[in-house]
Amino acid sequence: MQLLTDGSDNNPTLGFCLTMISQHGGSWPPTEEVLAREFVNWLDFHSMLTRSRLTELCRTKGVNLSFVPLPQEIRGFNCAFQEKKEIVITKHELAPFADSHTLMHEFRELLEHEFAALGYATIGVKDSLEEQAEIFAAFSRMEAITKDLPSFIEMAQSIEKNWARYLAYAFWLVFSLVYLFSCIYLPQLEEIGAEAKRQRYVRT
Ligand SMILES: [Zn+2]
Repeated sequence: MQLLTDGSDNNPTLGFCLTMISQHGGSWPPTEEVLAREFVNWLDFHSMLTRSRLTELCRTKGVNLSFVPLPQEIRGFNCAFQEKKEIVITKHELAPFADSHTLMHEFRELLEHEFAALGYATIGVKDSLEEQAEIFAAFSRMEAITKDLPSFIEMAQSIEKNWARYLAYAFWLVFSLVYLFSCIYLPQLEEIGAEAKRQRYVRT
């Protein structure tokens, strides 16, 4: 006997969207912050991940992630066909953590397509998905650093030498501030990175 499924077995992203709808359907749409928190937990996303780790995380969720050279004005794109999902990110990271930021942005767009197909769009037709995806990326990364901070502090606490421990605290404090700053100002930082790159080409 064949069991009927909702199709989320081969499509984990759809499974995530269905869970969100079942938990928050009563007061739809959830805030971007709530969506980001649930998503970060679901993907097991963290603040500091290498490209291979990001690729691996995506693979476990049925999304093929690749890094390829793209024209400078394109940071990434996504496409979905039936159960197949692809996210492509530029190989040239223009600012620190831009890979993670772009990944979250592209994932948000994939999520919205699933929500809309299920009749649960989270944004109006006049709203900009691009803007919403940027807000989602910022919230997701803030969520990740908030989640990671206790283990950073624990790591520092375990250092025996006083001076080394204080140095570790200072490092994590500065890192967290820089990271939070980059959550909000990443597009501007990328612009600066792109401009610096352009200047390099001009100066021969
Ligand atoms: Zn976009």
